[in-house]
Amino acid sequence: MNQWIGTKNPIHRFTDSPFMLQLYNTLTRKKDEFVPIKNKAVGLYTCGPTVYDFAHLGNLRTYIFEDILKRVLKFNGFRVRHVMNVTDVGHLVSDADEGEDKMMKALNREKLEPSVASLKKLADKYFEIFKKDISELNILEPDVWCKATGHIKEQINLIETLVQKGFAYETADGIYFNTSKLKDYGKLSGQAREELEPGARVALNPEKRNPTDFALWMKAVGKHASHLMRWPSLWGDGFPGWHIECSAMSRKYLGQPFDIHCGGIDHVSIHHTNEIAQSEAAYGTPLANFWLHGEFLTVAEGKMAKSSGTFITLEEVVKKKICPLAYRYLCLTAQYRSKLNFTWESLKAAESALVALSAESQYWKKPTKPNAEWMEKFTQAINDDLDMPRAIALLWYVVKTRDDGSKAATVLEFDKIFGLGLKGCVAKPPKIPASVKKLVRERERARESREFAQADSLRGEIEKAGFTVEDTADGAVIRIKIA
Ligand code: AMP
Ligand code: ZN
Repeated sequence: MNQWIGTKNPIHRFTDSPFMLQLYNTLTRKKDEFVPIKNKAVGLYTCGPTVYDFAHLGNLRTYIFEDILKRVLKFNGFRVRHVMNVTDVGHLVSDADEGEDKMMKALNREKLEPSVASLKKLADKYFEIFKKDISELNILEPDVWCKATGHIKEQINLIETLVQKGFAYETADGIYFNTSKLKDYGKLSGQAREELEPGARVALNPEKRNPTDFALWMKAVGKHASHLMRWPSLWGDGFPGWHIECSAMSRKYLGQPFDIHCGGIDHVSIHHTNEIAQSEAAYGTPLANFWLHGEFLTVAEGKMAKSSGTFITLEEVVKKKICPLAYRYLCLTAQYRSKLNFTWESLKAAESALVALSAESQYWKKPTKPNAEWMEKFTQAINDDLDMPRAIALLWYVVKTRDDGSKAATVLEFDKIFGLGLKGCVAKPPKIPASVKKLVRERERARESREFAQADSLRGEIEKAGFTVEDTADGAVIRIKIA
């Protein structure tokens, strides 16, 4: 990749958009006009990584979608306060309270000495890798990173409130949320409580009053007796359940209700449903007004997932010498609510598109003012529930149109949302192979001697080699062919 790609482009408001921002709200099951709670300030909470392993490209697709959302909000003139949690305790192998803590499991996998210090080292290692991944993908960092282990007091306070209000009960192994006490439990997915019952669970806890009840606190007893991370509480030493951290930390940093809560689609029926239950039962107000969910990245076997071993990391992409931003580009080619199937071929095609864009930019005039008509169309697309495929199609339309001087400036404006690091007009000329140059010279000669059929056939060969030739007053100009 050349220097045109990979630079950060600060986002600021472009215009007073006449196109209101419409976002698909999982809660209402329709596109709603986005109106913030407080004037122009938006509180955004996105569920972050469990730092026990590398993030895979599927996880990263969700973070890219959330980054696009954040950029679109800023583009529309909103000030965004973005909070992301880091799960470093309490996320069990199954989202439904079964199995070992993922962090403990990773300790064994990495053959580390069983100690709290090792767990911290593990969490720090994968958190740093995650931060590097998102930086390579040009994802803007949140304003607040909050770790579950740094907010135990807040989580215990929330559990105490739920116990006092009669929404939680104690068992031999923990404190559980009683889902039958909440009339609208499950409203996010629109499923009835019976439908949400995790049927695949074989080892149902017999003390649980309802199959959908979930752990708020797990005592360091029984199967968790050797759990290394533990804190004192009214119910004995233990550790928080996975869902409670997001309720406690979003409230601390954004208040309740806040504007937008995001995550992957798999969080709808368990994690986000339970976050809503805890927060709304404890405080009697909605947790968040808008709920946005990104669809899966799939592979031939189905959802890309760590558990099925079908995952690819960004590190592997880099090892194959493919620019990470090619993956970002690939994600832009699908709307966030559609599945995206990953193949190496599609990633390579995305990289070729970026290279072509970069090569093309060298012919553009110095950036002046963005073209108002194109900006209007662009705003319409991104404000229509983040319709990035439409925005990308517009980008290529602009790229292929004659440059009236506004092309570079327009593309730079677009890139405030795309985040592809397009700096404009500074690309090194693409390397043109000697064989292509030879074909171009032969074509010139054919044209001079008016052998037009031969000239056309040579043009065909040049195109087959991935280049185009344009006849200008200064002679033939060779360019990379845009698909
Ligand atoms: P986790 O670290 O497992 O909590 O996942 C981090 C984020 O990635 C969550 O928002 C998940 O919903 C999301 N996610 C997990 N698998 C995929 C996938 N295959 N495609 C898109 N997002 C995913
Ligand atoms: Zn969460």
